[in-house]
Amino acid sequence: MVYNFSAGPAMLPAPVLKKVQSELLDWQGLGVSVMEMSHRDPVYVKMTEVAEQDLRDLMNIPDNYAVLFMHGGGRGQFSAVAQNLAGPTATVDYLNTGTWSDFAIREAKKYVKQVNVLDVMTEIDGLKQVKSADQWALSEQAAYFHYCPNETVDGIAIHQVPRVQAPIVVDMSSVILSEPIDVSQYGVIYAGAQKNIGPSGLAVVIIRKDLLETQQSRVCTIMNYQVQAAEKSMYNTPNTFAWYLAGEVFKWLKAEGGVEAMADLNNRKSALLYECVDNSSFYQNKIHVNNRSKMNVPFQLKNAALDDLFLQEAAQEGLLALKGHRFVGGMRASMYNAMPYEGAQALVDFMTRFAHQHS
Ligand SMILES: *Cc1c(COP(=O)(O)O)cnc(C)c1O
Repeated sequence: MVYNFSAGPAMLPAPVLKKVQSELLDWQGLGVSVMEMSHRDPVYVKMTEVAEQDLRDLMNIPDNYAVLFMHGGGRGQFSAVAQNLAGPTATVDYLNTGTWSDFAIREAKKYVKQVNVLDVMTEIDGLKQVKSADQWALSEQAAYFHYCPNETVDGIAIHQVPRVQAPIVVDMSSVILSEPIDVSQYGVIYAGAQKNIGPSGLAVVIIRKDLLETQQSRVCTIMNYQVQAAEKSMYNTPNTFAWYLAGEVFKWLKAEGGVEAMADLNNRKSALLYECVDNSSFYQNKIHVNNRSKMNVPFQLKNAALDDLFLQEAAQEGLLALKGHRFVGGMRASMYNAMPYEGAQALVDFMTRFAHQHS
């Protein structure tokens, strides 16, 4: 048995992969694979409509929001957001909570004159945390407020939606579909697909329709929200395979009980792992409990000299991809929707044994 803790591209549900395999050579009795047909074929178009509806059902997306399936993954949206939603003279607010926020900020600065960066990370008693919202220096008239509720690299999360005047643009690449959310609180939700949705390269964008009206004209056309909404995400040839696979993941999610069931599963997995870390003198996680991620759990061995051995023995037991991001070191266990509870249990069992042997 293998459990893949990769941060992304991450594990996909096994039943989905089996189904995709079974219909790879002959999709819907058409005698060709889904990758070998026109995206304008009525059978394919129908599939995209079902995928969108399933996503709408799963996330309870109101009718005044458009759903786009775009190219370029999460980072493509770093540029798309800035190009579409802010004119060259606009001011925008960006919360900086870690690696991905920082990349988004750097991209926005290419297109927007006034990028107001809110450096909100602080460390109290050795624990990283996000400063409380009353300490954020928001602008008077921001075109939008951008933040990343789950910093995939750093394992830092913001669990409450910030209360701000400007439309909220949110990078949900590593938390989308992991718990129920109220879509109406956001202006734009975007996510690269490779953590909780499907293959990399695809991005899902959920945008309040009035924001399509105010957008800028000089936007690279395949990244233009207005164009993609009008063309049903088919201005140019979409990534047909990724879209199809995402649709299969949505069906699987519905059958599993939707985002409520996922939230319960994700709570249980992350609680198990944090408990193991917190109750040991061998491992540590230096993030305040209020800002701990449920998707990506970074932890360190207090004796870093044992890191390589830990990774080697874990891999021998089928526990894969636990090495932390090169920016932060240590370990990181990413446990998106497709990771079963048994995976978290197997990891904790291994960690307990390893600690015992080396203490
Ligand atoms: C993975 C990730 C991205 C980048 O996604 P790409 O598809 O590689 O561009 C952006 N933001 C967050 C929060 C991520 O986890």
